[in-house]
Amino acid sequence: MKTIATLGSHCALQLLKGAKDEGFHTLLVCLKKRANLYRRFKFIEKFLFVDRFDELTQPEKQEELLEEDSILIPHGTLISEVGVDLVEKALKVPIFGNRWILRWEADRILKDMLMKEAGLNPPQQLKPEEIDRLCIVKLPGAAGGRGYFLVSSKEEFNHFKEKLKASGLIKGEEDLYIQEYRVGVPIYFQYFYSPLEDRLELLGIDRRYETSVDSIGRIPAKYQINLDIPLTYIVVGNIPLVLRESLLDEAYNIGEAFVKASKKNVPPGMIGPFCIEGVYTHEGLFVPFEFSARIVAGTNLYIDGSPYSKLIYDEPMSMGRRIAREIKVGLERGALDKLLT
Ligand code: ATP
Repeated sequence: MKTIATLGSHCALQLLKGAKDEGFHTLLVCLKKRANLYRRFKFIEKFLFVDRFDELTQPEKQEELLEEDSILIPHGTLISEVGVDLVEKALKVPIFGNRWILRWEADRILKDMLMKEAGLNPPQQLKPEEIDRLCIVKLPGAAGGRGYFLVSSKEEFNHFKEKLKASGLIKGEEDLYIQEYRVGVPIYFQYFYSPLEDRLELLGIDRRYETSVDSIGRIPAKYQINLDIPLTYIVVGNIPLVLRESLLDEAYNIGEAFVKASKKNVPPGMIGPFCIEGVYTHEGLFVPFEFSARIVAGTNLYIDGSPYSKLIYDEPMSMGRRIAREIKVGLERGALDKLLT
């Protein structure tokens, strides 16, 4: 029997619980300092301890994973702590999904390109001298909005840029991505694309709970003005959401367009879980600004299934379990090559 492995962070519990429920062996690549947490869960059968997650690419660690006949499930921590270069070039363990598309997620220029190819119009990217409206400035990497800031003029932008350079967070202006800020309510669509069935499933929807941005509205404006709290987007959790039913058709169309564009631009295309992230504006228009080309942590909400998974499956179907189910069916049909890279 194959082993399903992942890094101990982000959505590891959900992934390995789902894998165990589908009858796989489970393995966690675990930081030594987190052993106490993860040992609490009996569905984790084997541990591979590391001091840092990038040790995963060391030959002896990879050997251990290969001996266990492991399939690695990528999540946000693989991108932020190991990085796409190593995932592409040094990681020999098979990955569930398209490992090449992770670069398109991490690189803002490629990201925008793929979204445009899918007909999803992300907010406009601006140069510093073009800042003439409210803009959000993004730092590189999947860091959950850490370090993002808002500006409405070139002068304001320069002020923040110098502060970030001085603190060593960026090397220069080229590290910063300036995007038009779109006012709206955030919505994150959690999809699963099955290459085996050629079918897109919307398995859940959430929004993030971010500090300080979600805390400032809790006090009256007259106090907000005098408080010098920086606007940050640090994710501390996720909140479940259901969409107006009349918007669901559009949600499916968006996901399908993305799958189609990914097949054309990043073969073999999207495999398994992904997420499109955006806001609904006051006109009721969905403005997508991001995608994640792998499982997102917001799926942790639905470990026992979601209102949407229930419409497709008569059993609790988390995203983690859905991944394991696809691998199981792939094994039965001798079609694992369609799922792994
Ligand atoms: P992750 O990689 O973990 O998804 P991230 O660093 O890519 O995180 P984002 O998803 O880009 O972070 O966004 C962080 C926050 O900024 C979210 O609250 C999102 O709603 C907001 N945001 C991002 N871009 C825009 C935009 N153009 N207009 C309005 N809000 C935005």
